[in-house]
Amino acid sequence: MAKTLALIAHDEKKDDMVAFARAHQAHLARHQLYATGTTGQRIMDSCSGLSIRRLKSGPLGGDQQIGALIAEGVVDVLIFFVDPLTPLPHDVDVKALMRLAIVYDIPMALNRATAEVLVQGMGAEPKAARGDDHGSH
Ligand code: PGA
Repeated sequence: MAKTLALIAHDEKKDDMVAFARAHQAHLARHQLYATGTTGQRIMDSCSGLSIRRLKSGPLGGDQQIGALIAEGVVDVLIFFVDPLTPLPHDVDVKALMRLAIVYDIPMALNRATAEVLVQGMGAEPKAARGDDHGSH
């Protein structure tokens, strides 16, 4: 059954998100996708088969727009690749979004390893060998 996924990646994690989306493109194409502005653009630039509803950029309110969608019951799964090493102006939004994911008890992946488990739980093929699709890091 099609689900609605929200995808967000901080700047240092965008390559990881693009690699994740490429690795699971066929599977993700079966679901409805939302993303914050830049994350969504990066994914669509490299995954021509994916159509994504892009919201505002995270620092400009995109994280909060996804929070609102969670509160409205629209989002089934949150995949948010958080950068743990860089101070961000919208750190408070990260905490707020995680809190809402807990309140509404939706699956939430904060890194790629967990995201892989989530999509496999949704019926995706196991990922290829890590080096094959891991972007430029
Ligand atoms: P972005 O927002 O996808 O527009 O970069 C993500 C974030 O920083 O929360």
